[in-house]
Amino acid sequence: MKDNKIFDLIEKEKERQQSTLMMIPSENYTYPEVRAAVGSILMHKYAEGQPRKRYYQGMGVVDEIEEHCEKVALEAFKLDPVKWGVNVQPYSGTPANLAVYNALLNPGDKILSMYLPDGGHLSHGWQYKDKKVTLVSKIWKVEFYHVDPKTQVFDYDALEKQALKFKPKLIISGGTAYPREINYKRMGAIAKKVGAYYMADVAHEAGLIAGGTNSSPFPFADVVTMTTHKTLRGPRGALIYSRKETSDAIDASIFPGMQGGPHLHTIAGIAIALANTKTNEFKRYAKQTVKNAQRLARNLGEAGYEVVSGGTDKHLVLIDLRNKKINGWFVAWALESAGIIVNRNTIPYDTGSPYYPSGLRMGTPAMTVRGMKEKEVDVIAKWIDDVIKHIGQRTIPEDAEKRNQYLKKFKKEITKDKFLKDTEKKVKFLCQKFSL
Ligand SMILES: *Cc1c(COP(=O)(O)O)cnc(C)c1O
Repeated sequence: MKDNKIFDLIEKEKERQQSTLMMIPSENYTYPEVRAAVGSILMHKYAEGQPRKRYYQGMGVVDEIEEHCEKVALEAFKLDPVKWGVNVQPYSGTPANLAVYNALLNPGDKILSMYLPDGGHLSHGWQYKDKKVTLVSKIWKVEFYHVDPKTQVFDYDALEKQALKFKPKLIISGGTAYPREINYKRMGAIAKKVGAYYMADVAHEAGLIAGGTNSSPFPFADVVTMTTHKTLRGPRGALIYSRKETSDAIDASIFPGMQGGPHLHTIAGIAIALANTKTNEFKRYAKQTVKNAQRLARNLGEAGYEVVSGGTDKHLVLIDLRNKKINGWFVAWALESAGIIVNRNTIPYDTGSPYYPSGLRMGTPAMTVRGMKEKEVDVIAKWIDDVIKHIGQRTIPEDAEKRNQYLKKFKKEITKDKFLKDTEKKVKFLCQKFSL
């Protein structure tokens, strides 16, 4: 029985992905082989437990699949299987991180992680002063570190001071909008000094690390977590790498601690994506992704935009729009009308709110998979600048009533805007040239 409604919508979404520029740094295109594995009969099987230690019958083949995934997962980051273990079962990045806290900490223990509006991640325990937004913040005591207000990068001396004072049991690095490489060595040293575990969450950079373009946290971290669907180009999922001393606790935390049956179809897809990281093609993609991001940062900087931290070492660029006197909300919607899909995003020490932030976050992994290089980035950067100039200076009205009306009107206007429509056509043409 075919649900036509859903298949029609999948076709529509396929067309959208084909004809627009996907510039959200956490999104990417996976491989047809991964899609085949994830849609395969493997989803019929229950396999609670770890390979060779299951609670179900009929396990021979699926044990081999999970063991194979673990093997390529260790190889992808050149890890010694005597020293490192990996759990390939987490359903996604957020539950993976939660499983680590559950394994290493007791309720009420302290976590030190990156401040969300500076580019941290919700799963690192985000909370407001008066509201515990995440489950993590309800179970553990969380404090945040910030980037330096001037340089917009971490001040590791200040971070060390904070750690000595707060005495966390776990220090986390990693985020969603920090454009610079993290000094993993220093983070590990700080954790050691205060007697904390060090977890590096490389959800965003994993593919750049496997591809040899970004530095590796493995020599310095106790635990490394990552998602598999961002720069790694796999299906949605996550991995937890841990030093052997803690691997059993982490496995037990995933199952029976937090999850039920593993998604074997996803695990198979992850294995395929990880194996591909060893190819020269993947290494070229990782390198070009960073080159494209650096080119984008340079071009936007030259066009008068304030690039957060002055540039990027990675696949993402964050710009501060305050000097252009336009809120990120307007820019993100106008760009979408022009077929360019980006995030509106908070910037360090933002004066706006998370819903109406002052920044824009852009990424280059997906366009690089399509084969786009510096030449195309130059064209795209110009389109972005032209769109922002076209819509002009705009602020979010304070008054709720006025705001609703104004934003509604803006959204309506941009659907009919000739300039945006023309840009959309050009974007479509470029996307056809770099077909998926
Ligand atoms: C994306 C991300 C996650 C969470 O991944 P989900 O799969 O969306 O749960 C965790 N940590 C960081 C730093 C991320 O960027």
